[in-house]
Amino acid sequence: MADSHVLNGTPVVGGKAYGPAVWPGERPVYDPSTAPTVASDEREVETKRFTDAAATVAGRLRERASHASGAAAEVLSATAGLAEDRGWIGAASGLIAKGTAAPAAAVAATEQFATMFTKLGGLMAERVTDLNDVRDRVVAELVGVAEPGVPEPDVPSVLLADDLAPADTAGLDPTKITALVTRLGGPTSHTAIIARQLGIPCVVAVGGLASIAPGTVVLVDGTAGTVEVDPDPKKAQAGVEESRRVAAAAAAWKGPGRTSDGKPVGILANVADGASARTASGFPVEGVGLFRTELAFLDRTDAPTVAEQTKLYREVIDAFGDQKVVIRTLDAGSDKPLKFVAQPDEANPALGVRGNRIANAHPEIRAAQLDAIAAAAKESGASPWVMAPMIATAAEAREFAGEVRARGLVAGIMVEVPAVAILAPQVMAEVDFVSIGTNDLTQYTMAADRMSSDLASLTDPWQPAVLALIANVARAGRAAGKPVGVCGEAAADPLLACVLVGLGVTSLSAAPAAAAAVGAKLGRVTSDQCKLASDTILGLADAASARAAAAAAFGSN
Ligand code: PEP
Ligand code: MG
Repeated sequence: MADSHVLNGTPVVGGKAYGPAVWPGERPVYDPSTAPTVASDEREVETKRFTDAAATVAGRLRERASHASGAAAEVLSATAGLAEDRGWIGAASGLIAKGTAAPAAAVAATEQFATMFTKLGGLMAERVTDLNDVRDRVVAELVGVAEPGVPEPDVPSVLLADDLAPADTAGLDPTKITALVTRLGGPTSHTAIIARQLGIPCVVAVGGLASIAPGTVVLVDGTAGTVEVDPDPKKAQAGVEESRRVAAAAAAWKGPGRTSDGKPVGILANVADGASARTASGFPVEGVGLFRTELAFLDRTDAPTVAEQTKLYREVIDAFGDQKVVIRTLDAGSDKPLKFVAQPDEANPALGVRGNRIANAHPEIRAAQLDAIAAAAKESGASPWVMAPMIATAAEAREFAGEVRARGLVAGIMVEVPAVAILAPQVMAEVDFVSIGTNDLTQYTMAADRMSSDLASLTDPWQPAVLALIANVARAGRAAGKPVGVCGEAAADPLLACVLVGLGVTSLSAAPAAAAAVGAKLGRVTSDQCKLASDTILGLADAASARAAAAAAFGSN
C-alpha cells in the first residue's frame, strides 16, 4: 500500500477498530466584530431570544441525558447545567442590555468565564471545552444553523476530531462509532472517560490527524496508541478479530490476579465512597488499593465530624468484608481543593501545600481522620491500611507512620514525589508498605502538568525516567520484604501492568472496569517474561520505544 502510514498518539483505551473516518459537523464560525448594535427598543426581545436559545439547548441536552446512563448521563446533565448557569446567562444578558447582539454576547460571556476557569486551573480548566461547546450550540440556535455534533454514520466508523466536547461523546452508539481519536486531549479528558465507559478503543493527542480526510479507512490500535492510514485490509481485519477474542477472554476473567506461572499480583480497585466501593465489589478485584477520601468531601464547607467520617469509612470497609482496603488520608489542594481547609493563595498549587503537607498547619484535620479510620476499623474488626499522599522525605514518612501506628493501624505512604522514589530504601524503612501514584509521580518527574493536553507525550507513565524510579522503589520494597503497589492510571494498562510486575510491583489498583483486562493479560505471561522485558525496557530512551518493546514481548492485544 503506497499510502499506508502510521500516526502516533497517546493510548487511552485498548483494543482495535477498523473502518472509515468520520469528522464531527463544523462548529458555527461567528465573528462578533461583524455584529450590528441592537437598538435600545429591541434589546428586551434580543435578551429573550438569547435566554430561549440557551433554554432550548439545555432542554435538548437534558432530554438526551434522560435516555443515557452512567457517565454519559452525568456529562450531559453537567453540560445542560452550564447552559442554564445564572452567572453566564446574566453576563450575556448584561451585554445585550448594552446593545450587543445575542450571538456576540454568548461569545463574549463565554470568553469571560473561560478566562476565569483557566486561571483556576485543574478540573475547572477542563470545563472550558464544555463551556465552548455550550456557546457553539447556543450560537448555532441563534443564527439558525444545525446544532454541531457527531454524525450518525451508516456503516461502523472511526470518529476523528480535534477535541470532543463531552456532550458530543456522551450517548454515542458504540455499534456505529467503533473508536475515538483526537488531535488534542489527555488521558484524563472527558473523551477518555466516555471511551472507557463505551469500551471502545481511544487514542488522544495524535499528531497529523487533520491530514486524514473523511472516508479514509483507518486502523486504530488503542493499546499501542497508533492510527494506521489505509492499512492492509486482511491484516487489519485479523487484528480486530484477535482483539475481540482477547476482550471476550478478559470479560470472562474472574481472578485472583496471578501470572501464568502462579506469581500472585493483587488486582485492586480505586474507589471514592461507599457507593463506588459497593459497585467495585461486583468486579473481579481483591479489595481496595486506593480510597480517595477527599473526593467524598469536595462539596463540604465545614469539616466532616469524626462520626460522619467513621460511617463513610465503614461503608467502604464493609463493601469488601475481610479483603484488603487501603485508605488514603485527605489529598486536599491543587486540583482537589477542599473548602473547609483554609489554604494559602499559591502560584503553583501542585507544588504547594497539598496532601499530607496540610497537616503542618492543621494537624487536627489529619488527627480526626485517623481517629475515624481507627474507629471504623474497631467497629468492623477489619485492619485497613492507611497511607498519606504527597510525602517527600523519610522524616515525613516516619512522623505519619507514628500517628497511624499509635492508633493500631498499618502505615504506608504514596510515592508521588521523585525525592521519595530516589531515597526509597530510607523511606521504606519507616513504613509497612508503599503505593506508587504514577499520575503525580509522572507529573513531577517530567515537570509536566498532568492536566495539560499539550504535554500528553511527557505525562506518560511509559517514560523510562518514571519506570526507573518505579524500579528503584520496587527494589527497595523487595529488599525490605514490604509490599509495593501501583495505584495511578498506569495500573489500568494491561501491557504496562506486565512491565510493572517485571519491575517488582506486588499489586495494581485502578478503576474497577480495568481489572479484568489487566488480570487476564497477566494470566497469559510468565513472571520471567515480565522480568526480562522490564530489564530491556529500563535501558531504552523514550516512551514510544518502551511501549513498542513491551508490545513485542507480550503482544499488543
Ligand atoms: C496518583 O497521583 O497517581 C494518584 C493515584 O493520586 P491522584 O490521582 O488522586 O492524585
Ligand atoms: Mg496523586
